[in-house]
Amino acid sequence: MRDIEKTLLRKVGEAVARFKMIRDSDRVAVALSGGKDSLTLLEALLRLRDRAPVEFSVCAFTVEQGKFLRPFEPLGEYLKQRGIDWTYHRDNPSLRLLDEQPDHGCDLCSRFRRRAVYQIVRALGANVIAFGHTADDFCESFLRNSLFTGRVSALPPVTYSRERDFRLIRPLVYVTEDTTAKFAESLGAPLIPCGCSQRTGTVRSTLRNMMRDLEKDYPHLKETLLSAMANIVTERLLDPRFLDLDGSSEAKTDLLPLVPEQ
Ligand code: SF4
Repeated sequence: MRDIEKTLLRKVGEAVARFKMIRDSDRVAVALSGGKDSLTLLEALLRLRDRAPVEFSVCAFTVEQGKFLRPFEPLGEYLKQRGIDWTYHRDNPSLRLLDEQPDHGCDLCSRFRRRAVYQIVRALGANVIAFGHTADDFCESFLRNSLFTGRVSALPPVTYSRERDFRLIRPLVYVTEDTTAKFAESLGAPLIPCGCSQRTGTVRSTLRNMMRDLEKDYPHLKETLLSAMANIVTERLLDPRFLDLDGSSEAKTDLLPLVPEQ
């Protein structure tokens, strides 16, 4: 097995096990956007399915919202040749939205997609929906929320739909986009770009460029950010819900300042 594949499967396996993402008899539907990340996720889950200690099945689906820059057929052909159970859904409400409000934002677009996703996945008989958000997305989201929305949060690796009828998982949480790009390239599959991914001058692109610049000097930046998300020292933040304001909790000597205060 190639090194890149080993790295990918180790990291996906680690996330799946740590966050109990996949369980016996699950039917996992992968949201396939046509890009490198979701295709990598699909291929990783297919490989893990064949060696996992639990039995689960994998299918994939794509929601057409009118934002792909090329026809999806070549990727559809690739999936067919791989024998992958794949559904392509043209979402008419999203396509109408594009006509009626061409400048709509991500909120509206995501809401339309979410509705379509639940409808498709229900028809596929799946109980788990896997999304291709990567370590880069988790870091970007963490920075975006901290810097622009005043909240310390990122994305949930596992969560449930409102009615709790679907488990939503993000098995690429530990996989960086360097890895998905190399792995997707090694597959030789025709990727389909989305118009939105090419936008510049957005908060997203600013944060991505910032991380890329910092990584030149600090190559483990994303790993460190992911570790920080899993190691929250609530006593050193400003949320009174987690502070011992009247000194009634046991003293925690390990929380004494590590560096002299200025
Ligand atoms: S980036 Fe584009 S496709 Fe993604 S939610 Fe926003 S508008 Fe929709």
